[in-house]
Amino acid sequence: MRQPSVLIIGAGATGMLAYIKLHEAGITDVILIEKADRVGGTWRENTYPGIACDIPAPHYCYSFEPYVWTHHLAYGGELQDYMEHVGHKYGITQAARFGETVTSCVYGDHGKWQVETSKGDAFTVDMVISATGILHHPKWPDIKGKDDFSGEAWHTAQWRHDVDLAGKRIGVIGTGSTAHQVIPELIYGDHDVTVFQRTPQWVAPVPNIRFPEWLRRRWQRKPARMRAWKAAYRWLVQSVFVNATVGKWLPNKVMNILCRGHLWRIRDRDLRSRLTPDYEVGCKRLVINTTFYGAIQKPNAHLITEGIDKIEAQGVRTKDGVLHELDVLIYSTGFHNFNYMRPMTLVGRDGHTIEDSWSTGQYQTHRGVLLEGFPNFILMLGPGTPIGNNTIIGIAERQMDYVMQLIDMWRERKMSAIEPTSQAVAEFAEYIAKGVTGTVWVGGCQSWYLDASGQPTIFPYDWNEFLRITEKPDPAELVMTPVEDEVA
Ligand code: NAP
Repeated sequence: MRQPSVLIIGAGATGMLAYIKLHEAGITDVILIEKADRVGGTWRENTYPGIACDIPAPHYCYSFEPYVWTHHLAYGGELQDYMEHVGHKYGITQAARFGETVTSCVYGDHGKWQVETSKGDAFTVDMVISATGILHHPKWPDIKGKDDFSGEAWHTAQWRHDVDLAGKRIGVIGTGSTAHQVIPELIYGDHDVTVFQRTPQWVAPVPNIRFPEWLRRRWQRKPARMRAWKAAYRWLVQSVFVNATVGKWLPNKVMNILCRGHLWRIRDRDLRSRLTPDYEVGCKRLVINTTFYGAIQKPNAHLITEGIDKIEAQGVRTKDGVLHELDVLIYSTGFHNFNYMRPMTLVGRDGHTIEDSWSTGQYQTHRGVLLEGFPNFILMLGPGTPIGNNTIIGIAERQMDYVMQLIDMWRERKMSAIEPTSQAVAEFAEYIAKGVTGTVWVGGCQSWYLDASGQPTIFPYDWNEFLRITEKPDPAELVMTPVEDEVA
């Protein structure tokens, strides 16, 4: 078999997985480029207080690299330790080019990708795997007067550990999954915290249990003992959380009962009503948390729901004319969810750019991993994958199995370049669109689960269906350039 040269963009959980799987298959001409100075992706970038993964850790790790976690919802530091452990063990830390950003990928007439980096280096490779992750460009809201604030301000994804928060009046904008983790830390840290909520969230009460030492010792002695736990967590995530959002009646009812019941922890009726969403449970990404409701009832916490008018030097003025004076303003306002590899220049066949493909605000892919017009370009965790309340590591492993089958076709000289047909991309978009009617994402909320035209950006069916559609590539859906057409 011939061996391809492959360039991977990003050394987060997905890029590391790609590197491991390629080496496992005997493909060693691999370049891994990472903009930062370490592996880790999300868990390296996000260091805000209280950061944890809300997917159970035994299910949020590589299937081939079990780990003895301290908590079932692992904290960010431990997840970063895990990433670095995997990086060292599989030779990624030693091999990756750190501190370098891929600035452009251009598909050449000779069927190869020309890649350029911020260090002025250039590479010519057979394939590119884009493993940049989804949520990595912090989103700063467009609020009037944002630059006028005289105190310190930052985004949760760029936490300022150098600022001493003691005695400071802190404002937090946003109440998503991140805010639900960080706000209780600030409130229980005895700071005066003002929370600006635009939309309340449904919160599923999954407590973070610490695994007892005796159990961890048992697992350390024999990691295979963790299998049953992993299976239980897989069932919980796929059969309860994922199914609750994609039209399965029973899990949806269970989730409704859990979230609605959880709200009764708020004793004050007015506060409870302001924290009660007016859309269906799961319409926005479910928040998994047990600390927020307790914290927000403390005397040093203030929930503001009036809506922000503007930001001034002294603080935030809400639409009722009240100025909320602050020393620090924290933006927990999420990410640009569909930037993926951008702002990198991506030019495919016939000068077609990624902006051409996605300018309409519809993010079409083939089975969440291939893009029309971009031969031999793999987009990990692309639009159309089940990334809601799910394990991105599990999804990426499944995608990599699919990708390795494509790469094997290349190695077996069945083709030199592969991309989906227009019809296959259109059919996948239609199949995804059809699925939305069964989901709760059309349950009356604003969320990034739907694109500008109201079509889902993530996979709207259950996990088994995702396994079915990613089992193996269908040649009828692919344009394959024969090997004899390759120009030397
Ligand atoms: P997010 O879910 O996008 O939430 C952003 C928050 O900011 C929302 O409450 C939003 O209000 C608010 N907001 C945005 N613009 C605003 C404005 N102009 N004025 C007032 N409020 C504004 O962001 P996130 O909490 O950082 O979470 C992002 C994603 O990260 C999640 O979807 C999840 O996938 C992931 N995450 C995962 C974990 C985990 O443990 N696995 C933890 C944290 C985050 P609206 O709701 O009204 O838009």
